[in-house]
Amino acid sequence: MGEEYIDLHTHSLASDGTDTPAQLAVKARDAGVAAFAITDHDTVAGVEEAMKTAGEMGIECIPGCEIAVQEDHLDEVHILGLWVDWRHPELVDFLEIQTKNRLRRNQQIIVKLQAQGIDITFDEVLALSRGGSCGRPHIARTLVAKGYAADVRTAFARYLGGRGSAFVPRVLSSPEKGIKALTASGAIVVLAHPCTSRRMSAKRLDGILKKYIAHGLTALEVFHSVHTPFQQRLCLKMAARHGLLISGGSDYHGPVKPYARLGYSHYGQRVPYRFLEKMKEWRRARGLPLEFTLEGAAVSR
Ligand code: AMP
Ligand code: FE
Ligand code: FE
Ligand code: ZN
Repeated sequence: MGEEYIDLHTHSLASDGTDTPAQLAVKARDAGVAAFAITDHDTVAGVEEAMKTAGEMGIECIPGCEIAVQEDHLDEVHILGLWVDWRHPELVDFLEIQTKNRLRRNQQIIVKLQAQGIDITFDEVLALSRGGSCGRPHIARTLVAKGYAADVRTAFARYLGGRGSAFVPRVLSSPEKGIKALTASGAIVVLAHPCTSRRMSAKRLDGILKKYIAHGLTALEVFHSVHTPFQQRLCLKMAARHGLLISGGSDYHGPVKPYARLGYSHYGQRVPYRFLEKMKEWRRARGLPLEFTLEGAAVSR
Protein backbone atom coordinates (compact mmCIF):
# COMPACT_ATOMS: atom_id res chain seq x y z
CA MET A 1 0.00 0.00 0.00
CA GLY A 2 1.29 3.48 -0.85
CA GLU A 3 1.58 6.35 1.56
CA GLU A 4 -1.68 7.69 2.94
CA TYR A 5 -2.60 11.32 3.54
CA ILE A 6 -4.58 13.41 5.97
CA ASP A 7 -6.26 16.81 6.20
CA LEU A 8 -6.73 17.95 9.78
CA HIS A 9 -8.31 21.36 9.14
CA THR A 10 -11.57 21.75 7.19
CA HIS A 11 -14.77 23.80 7.36
CA SER A 12 -18.39 23.06 6.47
CA LEU A 13 -21.70 24.91 6.32
CA ALA A 14 -21.82 24.51 10.09
CA SER A 15 -19.57 27.61 10.01
CA ASP A 16 -18.25 29.55 6.99
CA GLY A 17 -17.58 26.67 4.61
CA THR A 18 -19.86 25.96 1.66
CA ASP A 19 -20.29 22.15 1.81
CA THR A 20 -22.65 20.30 4.09
CA PRO A 21 -20.72 18.11 6.53
CA ALA A 22 -21.80 15.07 4.48
CA GLN A 23 -20.55 16.66 1.24
CA LEU A 24 -17.30 17.49 2.99
CA ALA A 25 -16.80 13.82 3.85
CA VAL A 26 -17.52 12.76 0.26
CA LYS A 27 -15.13 15.38 -1.11
CA ALA A 28 -12.45 14.36 1.39
CA ARG A 29 -12.72 10.78 0.15
CA ASP A 30 -12.55 12.05 -3.46
CA ALA A 31 -9.51 14.16 -2.56
CA GLY A 32 -7.77 10.94 -1.60
CA VAL A 33 -7.27 11.41 2.12
CA ALA A 34 -7.50 8.49 4.53
CA ALA A 35 -8.50 10.77 7.40
CA PHE A 36 -9.78 14.30 7.82
CA ALA A 37 -10.86 16.46 10.75
CA ILE A 38 -13.94 18.66 10.63
CA THR A 39 -12.94 21.87 12.43
CA ASP A 40 -15.68 24.46 12.10
CA HIS A 41 -15.30 27.87 13.76
CA ASP A 42 -16.69 27.84 17.30
CA THR A 43 -19.07 24.96 16.66
CA VAL A 44 -19.30 21.18 16.64
CA ALA A 45 -22.70 21.20 14.90
CA GLY A 46 -21.38 19.42 11.81
CA VAL A 47 -19.40 16.72 13.58
CA GLU A 48 -21.96 13.91 13.75
CA GLU A 49 -23.10 14.24 10.13
CA ALA A 50 -19.51 14.32 8.87
CA MET A 51 -18.53 11.28 10.96
CA LYS A 52 -21.55 9.31 9.86
CA THR A 53 -20.89 9.91 6.16
CA ALA A 54 -17.15 9.38 6.56
CA GLY A 55 -17.91 6.01 8.15
CA GLU A 56 -19.99 5.10 5.09
CA MET A 57 -17.17 6.29 2.78
CA GLY A 58 -14.65 4.15 4.63
CA ILE A 59 -12.48 7.07 5.73
CA GLU A 60 -11.74 8.40 9.19
CA CYS A 61 -13.31 11.62 10.42
CA ILE A 62 -11.78 13.17 13.51
CA PRO A 63 -14.25 15.29 15.47
CA GLY A 64 -12.87 18.80 15.95
CA CYS A 65 -13.44 22.52 16.05
CA GLU A 66 -11.50 25.76 15.66
CA ILE A 67 -11.81 28.44 18.30
CA ALA A 68 -10.55 32.02 18.32
CA VAL A 69 -8.95 33.54 21.40
CA GLN A 70 -7.57 36.92 22.42
CA GLU A 71 -3.84 37.53 22.33
CA ASP A 72 -2.05 40.83 23.06
CA HIS A 73 -0.36 42.49 20.07
CA LEU A 74 -1.87 40.03 17.61
CA ASP A 75 -5.06 39.67 15.65
CA GLU A 76 -7.08 36.83 17.13
CA VAL A 77 -5.26 33.53 17.57
CA HIS A 78 -6.89 30.32 16.35
CA ILE A 79 -6.73 27.01 18.18
CA LEU A 80 -7.88 23.63 16.89
CA GLY A 81 -9.18 20.81 19.03
CA LEU A 82 -8.78 17.35 17.51
CA TRP A 83 -10.73 14.40 18.92
CA VAL A 84 -12.97 16.74 20.89
CA ASP A 85 -15.73 14.98 22.75
CA TRP A 86 -18.33 17.22 21.14
CA ARG A 87 -20.90 16.45 23.83
CA HIS A 88 -18.65 17.41 26.75
CA PRO A 89 -20.47 19.99 28.92
CA GLU A 90 -17.42 22.24 29.43
CA LEU A 91 -16.80 22.44 25.68
CA VAL A 92 -20.49 22.93 24.94
CA ASP A 93 -20.63 25.80 27.48
CA PHE A 94 -17.49 27.41 26.05
CA LEU A 95 -18.80 27.26 22.48
CA GLU A 96 -22.10 28.72 23.62
CA ILE A 97 -20.29 31.76 25.02
CA GLN A 98 -18.35 32.16 21.76
CA THR A 99 -21.62 31.93 19.81
CA LYS A 100 -23.35 34.51 22.00
CA ASN A 101 -20.46 36.93 21.53
CA ARG A 102 -20.54 36.34 17.77
CA LEU A 103 -24.27 36.95 17.66
CA ARG A 104 -24.00 40.23 19.50
CA ARG A 105 -21.16 41.38 17.28
CA ASN A 106 -22.98 40.45 14.07
CA GLN A 107 -25.99 42.44 15.24
CA GLN A 108 -23.79 45.47 15.97
CA ILE A 109 -22.25 45.24 12.50
CA ILE A 110 -25.71 45.09 10.88
CA VAL A 111 -26.82 48.17 12.84
CA LYS A 112 -23.73 50.04 11.61
CA LEU A 113 -24.42 49.01 8.03
CA GLN A 114 -28.05 50.07 8.32
CA ALA A 115 -26.94 53.45 9.71
CA GLN A 116 -24.93 53.87 6.49
CA GLY A 117 -28.12 53.45 4.48
CA ILE A 118 -27.54 49.83 3.52
CA ASP A 119 -30.61 47.68 3.16
CA ILE A 120 -29.65 44.58 5.11
CA THR A 121 -31.30 42.65 7.93
CA PHE A 122 -29.95 40.23 10.48
CA ASP A 123 -32.45 37.61 9.30
CA GLU A 124 -31.02 37.69 5.76
CA VAL A 125 -27.56 37.02 7.12
CA LEU A 126 -28.78 34.26 9.42
CA ALA A 127 -30.62 32.61 6.52
CA LEU A 128 -27.32 32.42 4.66
CA SER A 129 -25.57 30.79 7.60
CA ARG A 130 -28.34 28.17 7.71
CA GLY A 131 -28.29 27.92 11.47
CA GLY A 132 -24.53 27.36 11.59
CA SER A 133 -21.87 29.45 13.32
CA CYS A 134 -22.48 32.89 11.77
CA GLY A 135 -19.77 35.46 11.11
CA ARG A 136 -18.53 38.24 8.88
CA PRO A 137 -18.20 35.95 5.83
CA HIS A 138 -21.99 35.51 5.89
CA ILE A 139 -22.52 39.27 6.16
CA ALA A 140 -20.05 39.71 3.28
CA ARG A 141 -21.90 37.22 1.09
CA THR A 142 -25.19 38.98 1.85
CA LEU A 143 -23.66 42.32 0.84
CA VAL A 144 -22.41 40.77 -2.40
CA ALA A 145 -25.79 39.14 -3.13
CA LYS A 146 -27.49 42.50 -2.66
CA GLY A 147 -25.07 44.34 -4.93
CA TYR A 148 -23.26 46.38 -2.28
CA ALA A 149 -19.88 44.84 -3.10
CA ALA A 150 -18.49 43.09 -6.16
CA ASP A 151 -17.08 40.21 -4.11
CA VAL A 152 -16.39 39.07 -0.56
CA ARG A 153 -12.93 40.58 -0.56
CA THR A 154 -14.33 43.99 -1.48
CA ALA A 155 -17.03 43.66 1.18
CA PHE A 156 -14.29 43.12 3.77
CA ALA A 157 -12.17 45.98 2.47
CA ARG A 158 -15.05 48.43 2.38
CA TYR A 159 -17.23 47.42 5.32
CA LEU A 160 -16.20 44.48 7.47
CA GLY A 161 -12.41 44.33 7.76
CA GLY A 162 -10.37 46.12 10.44
CA ARG A 163 -10.49 49.34 8.44
CA GLY A 164 -13.99 48.88 7.09
CA SER A 165 -16.78 51.36 7.84
CA ALA A 166 -18.86 48.85 9.85
CA PHE A 167 -16.06 47.07 11.70
CA VAL A 168 -16.78 45.88 15.21
CA PRO A 169 -14.06 43.96 17.08
CA ARG A 170 -14.87 40.51 18.40
CA VAL A 171 -15.13 39.86 22.10
CA LEU A 172 -12.93 36.84 22.64
CA SER A 173 -12.05 34.49 25.46
CA SER A 174 -8.58 34.15 26.89
CA PRO A 175 -6.27 31.43 25.50
CA GLU A 176 -6.31 29.83 28.94
CA LYS A 177 -10.11 29.40 28.94
CA GLY A 178 -10.20 28.13 25.37
CA ILE A 179 -7.40 25.61 25.85
CA LYS A 180 -8.95 24.46 29.11
CA ALA A 181 -12.34 23.77 27.47
CA LEU A 182 -10.71 21.80 24.64
CA THR A 183 -8.50 19.85 27.04
CA ALA A 184 -11.47 19.05 29.27
CA SER A 185 -13.18 17.51 26.25
CA GLY A 186 -10.19 15.22 25.78
CA ALA A 187 -8.84 16.96 22.66
CA ILE A 188 -5.36 17.32 21.29
CA VAL A 189 -4.96 21.10 21.33
CA VAL A 190 -3.26 22.58 18.26
CA LEU A 191 -2.06 26.14 17.67
CA ALA A 192 -3.54 26.82 14.20
CA HIS A 193 -1.71 28.52 11.30
CA PRO A 194 0.65 30.45 13.60
CA CYS A 195 2.35 32.28 10.72
CA THR A 196 -0.75 33.74 9.08
CA SER A 197 -0.76 36.81 11.30
CA ARG A 198 1.44 39.58 9.91
CA ARG A 199 2.39 40.51 13.45
CA MET A 200 3.73 37.07 14.35
CA SER A 201 7.50 36.75 14.69
CA ALA A 202 9.73 33.81 15.68
CA LYS A 203 10.28 35.40 19.07
CA ARG A 204 6.61 36.04 19.66
CA LEU A 205 5.70 32.51 18.55
CA ASP A 206 8.24 31.10 20.97
CA GLY A 207 6.70 33.09 23.82
CA ILE A 208 3.14 32.16 22.89
CA LEU A 209 4.04 28.48 22.70
CA LYS A 210 5.62 28.55 26.17
CA LYS A 211 2.52 30.22 27.60
CA TYR A 212 0.00 28.00 25.77
CA ILE A 213 1.88 24.79 26.60
CA ALA A 214 1.58 25.70 30.28
CA HIS A 215 -2.22 25.82 29.71
CA GLY A 216 -2.30 22.47 27.86
CA LEU A 217 -1.33 23.04 24.21
CA THR A 218 0.06 19.85 22.71
CA ALA A 219 0.48 20.37 18.95
CA LEU A 220 1.41 22.88 16.28
CA GLU A 221 -0.16 23.25 12.83
CA VAL A 222 3.00 23.17 10.74
CA PHE A 223 1.41 22.43 7.35
CA HIS A 224 -1.26 24.86 6.16
CA SER A 225 -2.38 26.33 2.83
CA VAL A 226 -0.99 29.74 3.68
CA HIS A 227 2.31 28.63 5.28
CA THR A 228 5.29 29.16 2.98
CA PRO A 229 8.15 26.63 2.97
CA PHE A 230 10.14 29.05 5.14
CA GLN A 231 7.31 29.27 7.68
CA GLN A 232 6.93 25.48 7.61
CA ARG A 233 10.59 25.12 8.54
CA LEU A 234 10.23 27.64 11.34
CA CYS A 235 7.21 25.74 12.68
CA LEU A 236 9.00 22.40 12.45
CA LYS A 237 11.87 23.87 14.46
CA MET A 238 9.45 25.27 17.05
CA ALA A 239 7.58 21.96 17.32
CA ALA A 240 10.85 20.14 17.94
CA ARG A 241 12.08 22.73 20.44
CA HIS A 242 8.87 22.56 22.46
CA GLY A 243 8.17 18.84 22.07
CA LEU A 244 4.89 19.43 20.25
CA LEU A 245 3.00 17.05 17.98
CA ILE A 246 2.84 18.14 14.34
CA SER A 247 -0.47 18.80 12.62
CA GLY A 248 -1.40 19.91 9.13
CA GLY A 249 -4.35 20.61 6.90
CA SER A 250 -5.77 22.70 4.12
CA ASP A 251 -8.19 25.01 6.00
CA TYR A 252 -10.60 24.13 3.18
CA HIS A 253 -13.80 26.23 3.09
CA GLY A 254 -14.99 25.55 -0.49
CA PRO A 255 -14.66 27.86 -3.52
CA VAL A 256 -14.90 30.93 -1.25
CA LYS A 257 -11.25 30.33 -0.36
CA PRO A 258 -9.80 29.07 -3.65
CA TYR A 259 -6.25 28.85 -2.32
CA ALA A 260 -7.20 26.16 0.20
CA ARG A 261 -7.58 22.86 -1.64
CA LEU A 262 -9.11 19.97 0.27
CA GLY A 263 -6.52 17.28 0.97
CA TYR A 264 -3.50 19.51 0.37
CA SER A 265 -1.44 22.08 2.23
CA HIS A 266 0.81 24.68 0.63
CA TYR A 267 1.59 24.39 -3.11
CA GLY A 268 -0.17 21.06 -3.57
CA GLN A 269 1.80 19.40 -0.81
CA ARG A 270 0.24 16.38 0.95
CA VAL A 271 0.29 15.83 4.70
CA PRO A 272 1.47 12.26 5.42
CA TYR A 273 -0.58 9.94 7.63
CA ARG A 274 2.39 9.35 9.92
CA PHE A 275 1.69 12.64 11.73
CA LEU A 276 -1.76 11.36 12.62
CA GLU A 277 -0.27 8.05 13.72
CA LYS A 278 2.01 9.97 16.11
CA MET A 279 -0.99 11.74 17.57
CA LYS A 280 -2.75 8.41 18.01
CA GLU A 281 0.25 6.94 19.80
CA TRP A 282 0.28 9.99 22.05
CA ARG A 283 -3.40 9.50 22.87
CA ARG A 284 -3.06 5.76 23.44
CA ALA A 285 -0.21 6.40 25.88
CA ARG A 286 -2.51 8.68 27.86
CA GLY A 287 -5.60 6.49 27.69
CA LEU A 288 -7.48 9.07 25.59
CA PRO A 289 -10.16 7.71 23.23
CA LEU A 290 -9.64 7.28 19.50
CA GLU A 291 -13.17 6.09 18.89
CA PHE A 292 -16.46 7.76 19.62
CA THR A 293 -19.88 6.23 19.75
CA LEU A 294 -22.31 7.62 17.22
CA GLU A 295 -25.85 6.26 17.29
CA GLY A 296 -24.52 3.05 18.70
CA ALA A 297 -21.67 2.70 16.20
CA ALA A 298 -18.00 3.29 16.97
CA VAL A 299 -16.41 5.71 14.50
CA SER A 300 -12.97 7.34 14.04
CA ARG A 301 -10.13 5.00 14.80
P1 AMP B 1 -15.35 36.38 11.89
O1 AMP B 1 -15.08 35.06 12.52
O2 AMP B 1 -16.80 36.71 11.84
O3 AMP B 1 -14.52 37.49 12.48
O4 AMP B 1 -14.87 36.23 10.37
C1 AMP B 1 -13.54 35.82 10.15
C2 AMP B 1 -13.44 35.12 8.83
O5 AMP B 1 -13.60 36.07 7.79
C3 AMP B 1 -12.09 34.49 8.59
O6 AMP B 1 -12.11 33.14 8.95
C4 AMP B 1 -11.88 34.63 7.13
O7 AMP B 1 -12.34 33.45 6.50
C5 AMP B 1 -12.78 35.75 6.69
N1 AMP B 1 -12.03 36.95 6.31
C6 AMP B 1 -11.34 37.76 7.12
N2 AMP B 1 -10.79 38.79 6.43
C7 AMP B 1 -11.16 38.60 5.13
C8 AMP B 1 -10.90 39.30 3.91
N3 AMP B 1 -10.17 40.42 3.90
N4 AMP B 1 -11.43 38.81 2.77
C9 AMP B 1 -12.17 37.68 2.80
N5 AMP B 1 -12.44 36.97 3.89
C10 AMP B 1 -11.94 37.41 5.07
FE1 FE C 1 -13.18 30.53 8.16
FE1 FE D 1 -8.27 29.82 11.36
ZN1 ZN E 1 -9.89 27.30 9.70
